[in-house]
Amino acid sequence: MSQAYETSLALYIDGERIGAAGRRTHTVINPATGRALGELPLATPADLDRALDTAARGYRIWRARSAQERSSVLAGAARLLRERIDKIAAIATLEEGKTLIEARGELMMAANLFDFYSAEVFRVYGRVLVRPAGMLSRVVKEPVGPVAAFCPWNFPIGNPARKLGAAIGAGCSIIIKPPEEAPGSAIEVLNCLLDAGLPKEVATCVFGVPDQVSRHLLASPVIRKVSFTGSVAVGKHLMKLAADGVKRTTMELGGHGPVLVFDDADLGRALDLLVPHKFRNCGQVCVSPTRFYIQEGIYDRFVNEFADRAGKLAVGSGLEASNQVGPMANPRRPEAVESFVADAVKRGARVAAGGERGGGSAAAGFFFRPTVLCDVPLDARVMNEEPFGPIALMRPFKTFDEAIEQANRLPYGLAAYCFTENGRRALLLGDAIESGMVGINTTMIGGADSPFGGVKDSGHGSEDGPEGLEACMVLKAIHQA
Ligand code: NAD
Repeated sequence: MSQAYETSLALYIDGERIGAAGRRTHTVINPATGRALGELPLATPADLDRALDTAARGYRIWRARSAQERSSVLAGAARLLRERIDKIAAIATLEEGKTLIEARGELMMAANLFDFYSAEVFRVYGRVLVRPAGMLSRVVKEPVGPVAAFCPWNFPIGNPARKLGAAIGAGCSIIIKPPEEAPGSAIEVLNCLLDAGLPKEVATCVFGVPDQVSRHLLASPVIRKVSFTGSVAVGKHLMKLAADGVKRTTMELGGHGPVLVFDDADLGRALDLLVPHKFRNCGQVCVSPTRFYIQEGIYDRFVNEFADRAGKLAVGSGLEASNQVGPMANPRRPEAVESFVADAVKRGARVAAGGERGGGSAAAGFFFRPTVLCDVPLDARVMNEEPFGPIALMRPFKTFDEAIEQANRLPYGLAAYCFTENGRRALLLGDAIESGMVGINTTMIGGADSPFGGVKDSGHGSEDGPEGLEACMVLKAIHQA
């Protein structure tokens, strides 16, 4: 199936679309075919200075506007996103690989979030303190200032929407650097906001060499907040750069999601939820379930059934409706997953499904088969580092305490899942797991109204929910006599 890549790759600064002419470029690749989709211009230092100047002006303009105006832009953009779903979802599938159905779901989540923020902007309340007559003390919330936001390639629509929506809702200006590998989706999200009436100075979009862009922007006193989604290593690096300017940070870093399945769980329901959730976006999801700890009485049954279902998933181009799993997003991912599998097998793990590249009709695509490894030793690299790929790791456990110890053994703490029909145990699990988000008998751990974020090395701060808006605001106490 062929599909046109209908987007215009450009930087967007101060209302100007800057194309590839005269600039270094990055070739955007379709991961299902390995073929080029287009040339993306990369920002020069002068472009970045112009972006900073625009963001400073944009902040002055936008913070003075009413909540009604911010709400109307966000609600309008939500409507436009839904109207343009066919076009934008196809762009996301072409540049990132995920199936069209997943891309459409991602777009709907972005639209829902814009709608949520469009209402939430009216509820940014402060406080009036109790003081003697003749004195007024109030605590108000103000936008933090211009935001620099860095997005990863795995949610090319949803992640830019999260960062744009929160900053714009709070009254900030924003410079966004979407991923060079999947840039068109973010450009289209921004277009929806501009077409809904966002002043041209408020949101700026740049691409470049990631480290050069982040160093340049974070060195500027104009930027007051940094929002990053990506790997732990890059997050730590950006936090150090942000510290020099005492800039606030929101860090959505990696995860290594534990799944605890107890022997009283509804196994059919657990499998129905966990198999598609594991292989969504070919496992390239920070909240992906990764380490499956299964109580010993049901271990063999669960592993066999999970592997059987994983082996039957149709792998191929995300544009074809019959496929359930698309390619990985770039050639680095199958390479990394292959090396994780080889290391685990060398240390004694058994391959119950997949374990190799394959799928898709085009030999050049970055496909990897849904993979299940069982009896994986704790010292295998994949049990300790985020695989970010289609690998489910299985290990048996005996007791509740052992399960909790295993779930909490890594420095990550983003998403965790538990399956049990015992209410008391479910309550204790919710309390005992060190994780920003916990799903008990469900894999639905987010929503426009719910904070999304991790603890420990998985980062700090929240996106989505009222907390996402608050993360772009600061407090001021004003005492008046
Ligand atoms: P990477 O660490 O090189 O890059 C991750 C993301 O950070 C990319 O979008 C990249 O453009 C950006 N980035 C890298 N260096 C940067 C810098 N100095 N300043 C600003 N942005 C920078 O790795 P990768 O190969 O692209 O992705 C693989 C790893 O990234 C995965 O193993 C996973 O741990 C992590 N990742 C996490 C998420 C998430 O949702 N938390 C998303 C994508 C990737």
